[in-house]
Amino acid sequence: MAEKDYYEVMGVQRNATDAEIKKAYRDLAKKYHPDLHPGDKNAEAKFKEINEAYEVLSDKDKRARYDQFGQAGVDSSFGGGAGGSPFTGNINIDDIFNSVFGGFGFDGFGGGGGRHAATNAPRRGSDSESSVTISFEEAAKGCVKTINYEQVEACAECHGTGAKDGSTRTCPQCNGAGQVRVSQRTPFGMVQTTRTCDRCGGTGKVIDDPCTACSGSGRVHRHKSIEINIPAGIDGNQVLNVSGKGNAGVNGGPDGDLHVLVNVQPHPIFERRGIDIWCELPVTFTQAALGAEVIVPTIDGKVEYQIHPGTQPGDVFKLRAKGIPKLGSRGRGDQYVRMTVEVPKNLSQKQKDLLREFESSAEEKNYQKRRSFFEKLKDMFGE
Ligand SMILES: [Zn+2]
Ligand SMILES: [Zn+2]
Repeated sequence: MAEKDYYEVMGVQRNATDAEIKKAYRDLAKKYHPDLHPGDKNAEAKFKEINEAYEVLSDKDKRARYDQFGQAGVDSSFGGGAGGSPFTGNINIDDIFNSVFGGFGFDGFGGGGGRHAATNAPRRGSDSESSVTISFEEAAKGCVKTINYEQVEACAECHGTGAKDGSTRTCPQCNGAGQVRVSQRTPFGMVQTTRTCDRCGGTGKVIDDPCTACSGSGRVHRHKSIEINIPAGIDGNQVLNVSGKGNAGVNGGPDGDLHVLVNVQPHPIFERRGIDIWCELPVTFTQAALGAEVIVPTIDGKVEYQIHPGTQPGDVFKLRAKGIPKLGSRGRGDQYVRMTVEVPKNLSQKQKDLLREFESSAEEKNYQKRRSFFEKLKDMFGE
């Protein structure tokens, strides 16, 4: 495939200024815009080509690389042998076009059509939002909670029609279509587009005597409450979806869903990491030295645990399957217990004497970490 020369495409000199390039683009885009040539493949291809060229020539860096290396300089995939334009995959013609023309706010660019779905068609109701705060244990074990929320539902007075006597008449402006065709002046001349009818808001019906209960909207806000099952294993910031409990559908469409954001209060002892629980357990230095039977709290209650003689601060032991249940499946996480060793304070004279007596009896083998530290120190200073 022959390389297109972008300057030739734009019909400008190689030394053209930015303003000249922009003007050339404006003129060519007006001439070849697909909206003015419906179904004309040549015009469409030409329009793409113009945009591709403008995308490169309007960008200082890309233009410099193009001048030096040709297309290979501005497209990393160039040379892959694939046919077609190296740019069509990654340029947004609408963006380029709007950046030059400033956007007209009319529909129809980029194929258009289908953007105005009939507003009197059945539509699903929107989702409503609520939240609930539960304790750490409730999250771990599951619970039932009452959720208060606000729901939009069809007005009972007027059965959702918005009219006082329940009767409406066809909109005279759109004849019930909900849409009107309008002509707009654009740089290409007049363009026909479709707009939502502003008289009836797209419903195709007008109300002469609005319902007083809903001010003619056909919809009312209601405070509601619902009991929901919160499953075991839920974590903070997760959202539960309650199907069909959101806002009422429109024109007979289905109701939306209720989203419940779950907040979990922090626990004074336990910390959750995924499905595992972590906690700290303070022991005395005598318990750590001699070993001891200790009581460890878990979400199932207290359990006994035998700590080893010579337990060090920061040692961690694991209680298998004492963690959080896996949400929606079998199995549980584990509980990890990190030891902290408390050094005694406020010692009596007798306690001090006992500790000094212990210290004088201590041997190197009692303090292996300390010994290895001082040996490293000796090596370091060559003593
Ligand atoms: Zn209308
Ligand atoms: Zn009403």
